[in-house]
Amino acid sequence: MPFRNRYTGLIDRYRDRLPVHDDTRIISLGEGNTPLIRLNNIPRAIGKDVDIYVKYEGLNPTGSFKDRGMTMAVTKTVEEGGKAIICASTGNTSASAAAYAARAGITAFVIIPDGKIAMGKLAQAMISGATVIQIRGNFDEGMRLVKEVADHAPVSIVNSINPYRLQGQKTAAYEIIEELGRAPDYHCLPVGNAGNITAHWIGYCEYSSASGEHVTEACAFCDGKCSFAGGSIVGNRPTMVGYQASGSAPFLRGHMVDDPDTVATAIRIGHPQSWERAWKVREESGGWFAECSDEEILEAQKLLTRKEGIFCEPASATSLAGALRDIREGHIPEGSSVVCTLTGHGLKDPDTAIAQSKETARMVTVDADLESVQRAILDNLAD
Ligand SMILES: *Cc1c(COP(=O)(O)O)cnc(C)c1O
Repeated sequence: MPFRNRYTGLIDRYRDRLPVHDDTRIISLGEGNTPLIRLNNIPRAIGKDVDIYVKYEGLNPTGSFKDRGMTMAVTKTVEEGGKAIICASTGNTSASAAAYAARAGITAFVIIPDGKIAMGKLAQAMISGATVIQIRGNFDEGMRLVKEVADHAPVSIVNSINPYRLQGQKTAAYEIIEELGRAPDYHCLPVGNAGNITAHWIGYCEYSSASGEHVTEACAFCDGKCSFAGGSIVGNRPTMVGYQASGSAPFLRGHMVDDPDTVATAIRIGHPQSWERAWKVREESGGWFAECSDEEILEAQKLLTRKEGIFCEPASATSLAGALRDIREGHIPEGSSVVCTLTGHGLKDPDTAIAQSKETARMVTVDADLESVQRAILDNLAD
């Protein structure tokens, strides 16, 4: 007897709403099914009556939401007979591509910006046997090169311009609706290439429509790759809010940005690939874009860890930083339910976590005897 209750990944779970066939060989590492955690202490601390949930995507197999898209992209590459994949990456896409390629037994090439990638992500790409091509340039230049080289070499692009990526990523919205029983009032995400905010909107729209076919204009960009089979459970959709880092905020500037810079390296992107679609999402959902400074981002990262015990990487904290400010300023009214996506795990970027905690961390070095350790405890007991 097979173990029938084993969770086997999001393609198996949402097979009827994803473009796969009955005999498709699924390349999965058990991605998806991530916790939706209700914040208890932060709403109380800011004195606002709001229901905030964080969708902890850092608990995917390689530590970011990219796995949701990668299981689909690699599954389809293998189905179509492809033997190699390539991506440009600020880190998490390369970690995910490397892992799923290893699982599938195919080759991965990852192009990353020299020196601007968090240590955990680089470690993941290196140990899993991908060929790591560091360029003296940023993500946007890497992306341009990937598109060019894919015309000249037998490699499939697995960046979010691959429509199967968004198909996989839309399942995060399904999970949220199934868990809450309806869509939240607001859904807040960090925005880099804007693939994920688009994917969530596709998911919410499909879930709330009877037909499921191209119910959002953003989805109409999918070239017919969308094969949602229908079934209506809920009738509402959230207001989508996208937050960018101030130094890397093309959606706030209204045009592409050539030298993006931010501590949130995962969203250090000046030329978003889903530019048109993200504007559609904003328009259709009645949402908005806003920016957060690096200070606000790091502050939110620390707050979340200290008040709730949830450790996410800096880019992920952008969603909470922005949401808390919009709640405080009343753009998100009291009584609302809010979901913030925490896109990646805090362990991805240990250097930034240590650097920003140096002054406030309670760390003491003492002699290895009972008295010294006892004193360290008594001195630091909360009163
Ligand atoms: C990729 C990534 C983002 C940005 O997602 P887009 O789809 O590019 O907008 C945000 N946070 C983390 C941790 C990421 O890895």
